[in-house]
Amino acid sequence: MEPTDSAGPARQLSQPAAPALPSAALRYAVVGASAAALGVGIVRTRIDGNALFPGGTVGWAFALLTGIIVGHLVAMGRDRWWGGTGSGASLTLAMLLLYGWVPAVLVSLAVVVLVGCARRHRWRQAMLHGAVDILGIGAASLGLAAFGTHPSVEQPWSPSTWGIAAVPAVVVSALFYLAATRTLLWYAIVPRDGGLPTVARTALIRQGLVGVALLGISPLIIVVATDLPVILPLFAVPLIALDSTLWIAHARAEEQLTDPLTGLPNRQWLLERAWTAIDDAERGGERTALVLIDLDKFRSVNDTLGHMAGDRLLLQIADRLRLALPRGAEAARLGGDEFAVLLPTCDSPTRAQRIARSLVAALSSPLSLDGLTLVLEASAGVAVYPDHASDAEGLLRRADVAMYQAKRDRSGVEVYEAKRDGNTPDRLGLLGDLRRALDAGDVELHYQPKVRFDGQVAGLEALVRWVHPQRGRVSPEDFIAIAETSGLMPQLTEYVLEMALGQIAKWRAMGLMVPVAVNVSPRDVHSPGFAGAVAARLARHGVPPGSLQLEITEHVLLEDPQRAADTLAGLTGHGVKMSLDDFGTGYSSLVHLRRLPVSELKIDRSFVARLVVDNEDAEIVRCTVDLAHSLGLLVVAEGVEDDETWERLRDLGCDAIQGWLVAAAMPPDETTAWLKLRGRTGWHRHAELEAAPAPAPTPAPAVRAVRDAR
Ligand code: C2E
Ligand code: CA
Ligand code: CA
Repeated sequence: MEPTDSAGPARQLSQPAAPALPSAALRYAVVGASAAALGVGIVRTRIDGNALFPGGTVGWAFALLTGIIVGHLVAMGRDRWWGGTGSGASLTLAMLLLYGWVPAVLVSLAVVVLVGCARRHRWRQAMLHGAVDILGIGAASLGLAAFGTHPSVEQPWSPSTWGIAAVPAVVVSALFYLAATRTLLWYAIVPRDGGLPTVARTALIRQGLVGVALLGISPLIIVVATDLPVILPLFAVPLIALDSTLWIAHARAEEQLTDPLTGLPNRQWLLERAWTAIDDAERGGERTALVLIDLDKFRSVNDTLGHMAGDRLLLQIADRLRLALPRGAEAARLGGDEFAVLLPTCDSPTRAQRIARSLVAALSSPLSLDGLTLVLEASAGVAVYPDHASDAEGLLRRADVAMYQAKRDRSGVEVYEAKRDGNTPDRLGLLGDLRRALDAGDVELHYQPKVRFDGQVAGLEALVRWVHPQRGRVSPEDFIAIAETSGLMPQLTEYVLEMALGQIAKWRAMGLMVPVAVNVSPRDVHSPGFAGAVAARLARHGVPPGSLQLEITEHVLLEDPQRAADTLAGLTGHGVKMSLDDFGTGYSSLVHLRRLPVSELKIDRSFVARLVVDNEDAEIVRCTVDLAHSLGLLVVAEGVEDDETWERLRDLGCDAIQGWLVAAAMPPDETTAWLKLRGRTGWHRHAELEAAPAPAPTPAPAVRAVRDAR
């Protein structure tokens, strides 16, 4: 019957301040009723001429036992319960069975008052628990009375008079006691919004143990009290042991829900708590908001200053978060540098956004670590029930999506928006299918040639192809976007690298020494150990690093430029060539050119396509070619579909082209045939007709249509 029983340990963790006690009227009623009952009980006992408490050895022995238990409770100093513990309850029930209602209440009150005095800041709670206990004892004595038993100090219910009917009498009064105290506590004390399933489970276990203790120990106490009261204080040992067991169960439940580093509640707690908050919001027609906060660049702190420093930093961040919490909000650490704040009631998404902004601002002010001043920035995503999700997991997922949006846009805080969320159920289904296809090896690579203006084959680009069993061909752009936002990207890249390297090795064995370019996503470049893993793969396939090229985009510089630069330096250090893809579509492209160790630049299809019709685009291409050449880079134009464009690119000084004019991406066998033919003679614009195998020569537009359908 401790306040923490069902209120949840985490409530104390995040809110050391007084927990919100609901149903004030009920609390006054409980205290009032118990005071009245106590008064009536004492007066009636006196009128009947009965003593309030046993005298002599028994009285002293009981007093001593009570004293030891109180001493134990105070000495442990933990936030234990008030009105009586599992052990206290056994003692009270023994008193009740032996001497009746009033002496039992006195024992219970003694515990409450003494522990309350020792820990004065909780006296209100102590009073309430004492009151609940008095009513519980009253209920138990009614149960006993139903069996015709009315013990008093003068006429104790001595075990020597117990018959078989004593068993149900003891069981019933114990049950009455438990039921009454539990029900009152549930309605009067436990904060309505605080019940968590995990904690409720341990509370239930504990109630079971208290019940068993009541039934098992109380009769033994009675027997000893009547036959050999001097050794009564020895009961302190099993009672304290029982108490400790209950405490351990409690502490375990707490650990399960706590992040060991910061002491904040953890993800499980957050989910359970969000569930109850959502239930309440639903009942009250209110909103619940979840703010997910992730530190930007925390990883680089860990990498440069070490994990210990990183931990200390997280502790500081957790403290800041605690201090910045608005009233009623609760914080949790989800792991790594990810934190969450739950706003159990929140009037609008805009308000949640405002709170998220203030939290992010609080985390972003400079902090000092080992004498260094660091400024960590944070990004936050907000999701609101019922606007964005109807359950706790959904809320967390949506807040996560919004948080990534905030990171990507560098906007600090974003509220979830369905229209910007790629994770629709449809896409999630596709994601599962893609994962299975990768496992089953059902994803293929096609190869598209890059050709120089003299006809020489400069290399091939590997492009991934997936034919979905029901949907048919899925565009790489679509499923790669899904893989990128879902964490499947590393697996996809490994798969593509593995296939491409295997193919390079095969071609080399046939004497076809053509370099192959593989597209990698920014996620890959940011994953630790990527450069080393690529080098190891090359070695395993016996492929020289110069035969592999990696196509990256400027986006690698967005998230963590330093880490990206390190990875890229590692790769070029191993001898792998880098190519900058989609040039012209990123932002401030020219600035980045110098910071990326690339040897080739691919002008994006969008500029190439309009080259002949749009003078501005032609000018952009010309400048790009000049700039790239001045930096010693090769320039490849992608998406070349017709002769005219080919000629313009040649005149502008471009080095090579790629596009349907030459060939679309082809399956490996077809590529082998193509290479065998063009490897000897080179690719020539008008040689296609003669070179094309029987039956019919295909003009370029037709080739395009056929290839496109692949
Ligand atoms: P990208 O790297 O810019 O690849 C070139 C895209 O242009 C390919 O589309 C290719 O089929 C298409 N293309 C080639 N020639 C022409 C042409 O003459 N005209 C037109 N209109 N298009 C042409 P695809 O295969 O659909 O790939 C789309 C994007 O998906 C790629 O763009 C690349 O960013 C990504 N991707 C493809 N394969 C992989 C992969 O294995 N890994 C990763 N990370 N990304 C890949
Ligand atoms: Ca590419
Ligand atoms: Ca491209």
